[in-house]
Amino acid sequence: MSNKEVTLSIIKPDAVERDLNNEIKEMFKNKGFQIVKEKKIQIEKSEAEKFYKIHETKPFFNDLCTYLSSGPIVVMVLEKENAVLANRQLMGATNPKDAEEGTIRKKYGISIDKNSVHGSDSAENAKIEIDFFFKD
Ligand code: UDP
Ligand code: MG
Repeated sequence: MSNKEVTLSIIKPDAVERDLNNEIKEMFKNKGFQIVKEKKIQIEKSEAEKFYKIHETKPFFNDLCTYLSSGPIVVMVLEKENAVLANRQLMGATNPKDAEEGTIRKKYGISIDKNSVHGSDSAENAKIEIDFFFKD
């Protein structure tokens, strides 16, 4: 049965800064994702705090929000069968040290905080995150 889904992907500041946008987008396209929406933006720290609200009690929250708002990011809506899980698989583990060969974070991630990409973790959160960036 078909389960076409959308998910939110962000190319984070460490990757945009190293000019990896096109290479990362190629990895998505090669896995069969369609990039249906895309924009390059820089967000305020207050917006990063809203976006990452689920992590507000974590010790890394402040640094995470400072980091996500530190430079340009590329925000994309990706579409594919089971896009949420497929994107999580292509991204690899949160810590690039633990990420498997062939994943974006293995290839490009620098550290657990500079791990090059964000991806929604459920279909429900994908909808919330897509609305956050693309609600007109
Ligand atoms: N993060 C961090 N330190 C940690 C855990 C997470 O800096 O110990 C950052 C990391 O950039 C990660 C983001 O916080 O991508 C969100 O964490 P989450 O657990 O949701 O990981 P993800 O879903 O991005 O794999
Ligand atoms: Mg997450």
